[in-house]
Amino acid sequence: MPVEQYVCTVCGFNIIGGLPERCPFCGASKKTFLTSEQCSARYEVQETPVTKRVSRLNSTPALGFEHAAYRIETIGKVFMIDCPSCFDKKVRPATVISFTHHHFLGASNQYRDFFGAEVRIHDLDSKPRISQAFPFDTRFEKDWVEEGIEACPVDGHTPGFTIYFFEDCLFICDYVFVEETRMVYNPFGPAGDTIEGGNRILEKLKKREIRWVCGYNYVLRYSEWYGMFSKVPVYAGH
Ligand SMILES: [Zn+2]
Ligand SMILES: [Zn+2]
Repeated sequence: MPVEQYVCTVCGFNIIGGLPERCPFCGASKKTFLTSEQCSARYEVQETPVTKRVSRLNSTPALGFEHAAYRIETIGKVFMIDCPSCFDKKVRPATVISFTHHHFLGASNQYRDFFGAEVRIHDLDSKPRISQAFPFDTRFEKDWVEEGIEACPVDGHTPGFTIYFFEDCLFICDYVFVEETRMVYNPFGPAGDTIEGGNRILEKLKKREIRWVCGYNYVLRYSEWYGMFSKVPVYAGH
């Protein structure tokens, strides 16, 4: 029998295996939940090209706070960095789904089964309570490189937060929020660690040729993005 699965339409979190009163991620009432089947019927995943080998994946219409996922076609494999909240069988298959962090795990369990994909996350982000219903095949602790993709754990916003590089793209999910012409650190994490992680990111950006920054709700030219990031983003959190 298939496992019960619900999707919170406020944040896109997938709740596997039962119906709680409130969303374990954002606290929204169960009235806002759809069953996974209803979600798949109402939403679909749209793919938008970023570069020749990179495209952005978003549910459409917009599914709450869902964060963009990115598809990377390397020579030998297809990677997804993060994962859409809506399970859409029309999404082109991936070999590996690798996460920036554990906040938006999407329908990764369903894509994993459907594609036969390997799911990766930093070990520290596999441990929080909201991660535990999700299957992970590889829990990494250090940097890794595969098929031209570089994974760099930086800690910060979450303990296992990992940024990725591929060709001229940087994948940074929600580490910073872009507000018109300025940038702020994501306030939903520990202030000091987030700032320290931001400094580690600055170090990792040195001596790289980056043209595109792929974030949770934006794709920006690196020059524009770096202009804001290098001015020490404001921390607006608690
Ligand atoms: Zn939610
Ligand atoms: Zn986050």
